[in-house]
Amino acid sequence: MHKLKKFYYNSRILRSIRLRIFLLVLTAGILPCLILSFSLPRGYESRIVNARASEVQTQLRVLSNQLISSDYFHNTDNEIINTELTQIASFYDGRVLVIDDTLRVIRDTFAVSEGKTIVSEDVVRCLSQPGTEAVSRYVPEDRYIEVILPVRQTPSLQETEYAASGAEAGTAQTQGVLLVSVSTESIEAAVSSLERFALLLGAVLSLIVFAAALIVPGILLIPFDKLTKVISDVSSGFSTEPVKVDDYIETQRISDAFGEVVTRMRTLDESRQEFVTNVSHELKTPMTSMKVLADSLLSDPDTPAETYREFLSDIDTEIDRENRIIEELLNVSRLENKKAAMNISQVNINEFLETILKNIRPLAAKRDIELTLVSEREVIAEVDEVKLGMVFRNLIDNAVKYNKEHGKVIVTVNSDHKNFYVSVRDTGIGIPEESFPNIYERFYRVDKSRSRQIGGTGLGLSIAKASVLLHKGSISLESEPDVGTVFHVTIPLNYVA
Ligand code: ADP
Repeated sequence: MHKLKKFYYNSRILRSIRLRIFLLVLTAGILPCLILSFSLPRGYESRIVNARASEVQTQLRVLSNQLISSDYFHNTDNEIINTELTQIASFYDGRVLVIDDTLRVIRDTFAVSEGKTIVSEDVVRCLSQPGTEAVSRYVPEDRYIEVILPVRQTPSLQETEYAASGAEAGTAQTQGVLLVSVSTESIEAAVSSLERFALLLGAVLSLIVFAAALIVPGILLIPFDKLTKVISDVSSGFSTEPVKVDDYIETQRISDAFGEVVTRMRTLDESRQEFVTNVSHELKTPMTSMKVLADSLLSDPDTPAETYREFLSDIDTEIDRENRIIEELLNVSRLENKKAAMNISQVNINEFLETILKNIRPLAAKRDIELTLVSEREVIAEVDEVKLGMVFRNLIDNAVKYNKEHGKVIVTVNSDHKNFYVSVRDTGIGIPEESFPNIYERFYRVDKSRSRQIGGTGLGLSIAKASVLLHKGSISLESEPDVGTVFHVTIPLNYVA
């Protein structure tokens, strides 16, 4: 079974849809041809045989009446009847036997069986069962039709009515039997010539069907070939716009799906390019400042020592910024790597947040910003402590950075049976609604110069979002300029890989 499967998958021909269409057309086309070429002569033959038999029966009925009326069974010397019997025999190229009710042949047109007794089942039946009608039998191997007709007095009209009213006819006494063998040589000849014709016709039609079966798959699969070309053109870079192949619903679906893939690839490519541009720009800014500071020091050999110190301290700050950007870029790339390994452990979220707040408090105190933790419930969850730390540190950092002097930051923790919820609320400058869709983009800042001034890299929120997503959670925000901002984070209590 396994080998068969392997063979199937290794064979290009067996797996092709072309072969299936070819076989389908071939069977659908050739089968009727074969049936036609076999059944046509057979049907013709049986129709002709039936017609011949019923024609003979009609003739015999007439003859039977004549036999009765001339009392032939008691007087076989009737010349007229004998001539008629001979005529019928020669007309049908056959033989007529007249048999009486004792099964004795009283007349044979071949004159060989006269006086002999015939014990044929059909003859006996015709004689012994008064209701038996004419019997015809076709013997193709000996090429004749045998018709047996009981010779009975046809009931008169009154008798027929009498019989129809339910009483027995009674008078229709069988006097004997007419047995005729009719040669079917002429029928055979016609049938065999028809057979030859049907065979030829079948062969020609089969050839046409075979040719069609070879051509049709190619025609039917043209749109698929077109589709393959379109896709390979795009993948080898000849074309950037995938052409629609809507000849079939199926190809349209594939080409639509491919179009979506291309659009997505293009978006990814654009965002990658944009990212590279942004990274270069962000990394260049501190470099430029450092270069200006260093150049100005070098250009004036008499620079006083304190200016040296001041400029070097500025250069030091720029180096710190450069380092921070690189650090955060590495975090982004680590978090956005889909295969980022999660180091999951049971963490007390309340204590965890308290520790983060404690670390940020000295910075907040400088601008008299109050940080409060509201624990509505004790929460213990399965999380990656390092990655989740990035989320809350960034959100609380932002809540302080973009706050006003003497402002407040309130962090709330709550949970239900499935998730835990952390919200970070501030009384800061707020975020305009039009920035909501872009706020998690890398390097996006509402106010570039302000962010940079307070040491922002524009990567904090994208790191936070990537990390929340790795925990299979969600993040959303509400904000009103000049009133404040709330970030809501929802994360499942139990981590499912
Ligand atoms: P940054 O390093 O600039 O803070 P983030 O990705 O953390 O970068 O934030 C992106 C931008 O979103 C910030 O530059 C700022 O304009 C805005 N922002 C983030 N958090 C807040 C907040 N709590 N209040 C007001 N604006 C905010």
